[in-house]
Amino acid sequence: AKETGKGRTVVYSVRESSPPQHDISLEAAMFHAVREGEFLLYYQPIVAARTRQIEGFETLMRWKHPTLGMVPPVRFIPIAETNGLINMLGAWALKAACVQLRQFEDIARRPLYISVNISPRQFRSDRFLDVLDDALAFSGTPGERLVLEITEGTLMVDPVHAEAILGKMAERRARIAIDDFGTGYSSLAYLKRFPISVLKIDRAFIKDLPAAEKDGAICNAVLDLAKHLDLSVVAEGVETEEQLEYVASRGCDYVQGYLTGKPMPAHVAMAALKENLYA
Ligand code: C2E
Ligand code: CA
Ligand code: CA
Ligand code: CA
Repeated sequence: AKETGKGRTVVYSVRESSPPQHDISLEAAMFHAVREGEFLLYYQPIVAARTRQIEGFETLMRWKHPTLGMVPPVRFIPIAETNGLINMLGAWALKAACVQLRQFEDIARRPLYISVNISPRQFRSDRFLDVLDDALAFSGTPGERLVLEITEGTLMVDPVHAEAILGKMAERRARIAIDDFGTGYSSLAYLKRFPISVLKIDRAFIKDLPAAEKDGAICNAVLDLAKHLDLSVVAEGVETEEQLEYVASRGCDYVQGYLTGKPMPAHVAMAALKENLYA
């Protein structure tokens, strides 16, 4: 459905996620789901490309509906972004993830980091910095253990506002990752302007490696750029040994994908951490 004249929100939802249709029954079910506690967090390992040691986890939201089963985020995040529920869900995810990190670190007995997706609407919310401070204070998680994942689109909508918010995040020592790097509309100039620490190469550029020459050229260019700008790189969606070898041999620091761990509930992630102990 084409929604026009509804203001800025429509621009983000259409560009960033293109919901197939406005599903009113699913939307109603979401409010119910919040009350019933049907939302959960899964954690996907982010590992050092060379050693495969777990360095951190990305927090990924799940909705376990009693009859529909697992509703994928591509279906419910766009709705939450449109109706504003994302602010509440996102605040909960941020706080819960910071608390969970402490438990992961207790098991690993070394510092790890937690990565949390921040939607465009959350990023522009007036309350976002309060939400961030509350999550850090409540959990006791130092800011530098937190990575906030935002997309190029989130930054480019209002670069002046983005610069101010990113400065505040940097004051708290939280790191910024550009999610789905290379897929958005942006100019590389923002890498100079904003305090960014991490680039996440989108799965679109990884999935056909090593055969796809153009994808390989793009990955190489991103890795080169990151090296010169002193940014770390995470290759997303790594599913095969060949893909891992390809990016690792070209200097990629971290990988995340089904090869080294699918998104999993916290208790499974803790078992994975125990097995992955490198003294
Ligand atoms: P994303 O942030 O790019 O997250 C990575 C997605 O790739 C996840 O999908 C993950 O399960 C999937 N993935 C990871 N490794 C592989 C792989 O090797 N192969 C394949 N085929 N897929 C892989 P997921 O969990 O379905 O999430 C989809 C999107 O929903 C996320 O994309 C993110 O944009 C959004 N999302 C998820 N959780 C949250 C959240 O808590 N807040 C916000 N704002 N957005 C979220
Ligand atoms: Ca992400
Ligand atoms: Ca991504
Ligand atoms: Ca993505």
